[in-house]
Amino acid sequence: MTASTPSSAQSAFLTACRESIGTNHVLNTPSDTASYLTDWRRRYTGAACAVLCPASTEEVAAIVRHALTHRIALVPQGGNTGLAGGATPDTSGTQALLSLRRLKRIRALDLHNNTITAEAGVILADVQAAALAADRLFALSLAAEGSCTIGGNLATNAGGTAVLRYGNARELCLGLEVVTPEGECWDGLRGLRKDNTGYDLRDLFIGAEGTLGIITAAVLKLHPQPAARVTALAALASPQAALAFLALAQRAAGPLLTGFELMSDFCVRLVGQHFPQLPYPFRHKHAQIVLLELSDNENEAHAHALFERLMAAALEQGLVEDAVVATNLAQTAAFWALREHIPLAQAKEGLNIKHDIALPISRIADFMSATDAAIAQAVPGARQVTFGHLGDGNLHYNVAAPPGVEAQAFLAQHEATINRLVHDSVQRHHGSISAEHGLGQLKIDEAARYKSTTELRLMRTLKHAFDPLNLMNPGKVLRWH
Ligand code: FAD
Repeated sequence: MTASTPSSAQSAFLTACRESIGTNHVLNTPSDTASYLTDWRRRYTGAACAVLCPASTEEVAAIVRHALTHRIALVPQGGNTGLAGGATPDTSGTQALLSLRRLKRIRALDLHNNTITAEAGVILADVQAAALAADRLFALSLAAEGSCTIGGNLATNAGGTAVLRYGNARELCLGLEVVTPEGECWDGLRGLRKDNTGYDLRDLFIGAEGTLGIITAAVLKLHPQPAARVTALAALASPQAALAFLALAQRAAGPLLTGFELMSDFCVRLVGQHFPQLPYPFRHKHAQIVLLELSDNENEAHAHALFERLMAAALEQGLVEDAVVATNLAQTAAFWALREHIPLAQAKEGLNIKHDIALPISRIADFMSATDAAIAQAVPGARQVTFGHLGDGNLHYNVAAPPGVEAQAFLAQHEATINRLVHDSVQRHHGSISAEHGLGQLKIDEAARYKSTTELRLMRTLKHAFDPLNLMNPGKVLRWH
């Protein structure tokens, strides 16, 4: 074989990588690499010439330069909890997986600036814990926080349960350090809240899913720890009632409203079925349940008084049928566990057709009634598993097989039809087919279908300018041609 054949290019690349990061950190036996090559949902299994585990920005840059020399595509990976297959290589075995998990240092904490600087591989929960130890809050919070990494959170512009008050990952990031596709290090670790000096490179790398460069560290915004939290479950008759309740809560609590999560009756029952320690929280059946959280900078009494005024108004207006307030930390945790176990209960129930969609809040009820009816007509008996971050206009609008129908067969027969029906309806209601999970490989063609040619052309122009050899996570977000 010549030097340009893939296998010799790969072996030269791997030799160079071993020299740069040490033999022990270039993994290529199946037992060492298997856990990196299948995504969290087990939808995709790829192959890689190696899994590379650098421990510093300099080592990442060296790998990227070797990849450029030998024309090896790199697939960055953090915690591998992404839900769109973005961190899984293709099946050719020619790509290398670049794990950032060993970049796990908290580099700085600046309490006057309210920032923390963390490397890409720091687990989200560890950033939260470091902030708490300094009596601050790092407000990004999601069910995978024990495993996902800051690099992955930023690469997917993750959302989660407190976006309503604090914003998504992009809004919580002030600066980035990135290894570019040329293997240079861009030091954009600025802790500035204002910086109008031209194109915002930081915002291009955030949400790019590793297709424009490798994030190695970030300056993240901190907030004060709230003095008190009130967490409650409210039972409602319909999505319309939930939206009216949201408007009321926003008026009553303003910025103190931190979370407003919707769960259909079916979702909550599914959790109880698969996790009996989390039973249905009300005596009677209710069509929708909202988990709401207020966080208050004054004190417990102030928070509870505000909550009581809100609930009194909601009951008086006939919006809420029943409610239960957490009276201690264990109950608060149990309410959140109910919400966070929905994806886990779904995984136990079997594969289902997932949609992570965003809609203008004013269109959500119309979207749900039109789309629910269309699905019922197209696939009688299909079960809607609808929940999400209602306060952000973000629904996880999932569809499971009718009772007794095998999940795999259901997907094979109906996935394409249901995706089309849901995404067309999202388009008609001026929404987005990916609110917080990104496109990865799962939605690359769907995004191309719904984005305008102008938008796709501009995105492709950026990709070609940043990564002219298409070595940064190819096959994700958008097609090369
Ligand atoms: P990975 O899965 O490893 O990677 C995700 C993408 O980012 C890939 O394209 C990868 O190539 C790229 N990438 C990773 N690290 C880097 C880097 N350093 N530089 C450049 N590119 C990189 N997401 C939400 O937004 N909100 C939720 O509420 C939410 N809930 C979840 C609940 C569960 C139970 C699970 C399993 C997932 C959930 N997710 C949620 C999805 C997932 O946790 C997030 O997308 C998370 O941000 C991914 O982080 P990660 O480190 O696991 O990234």
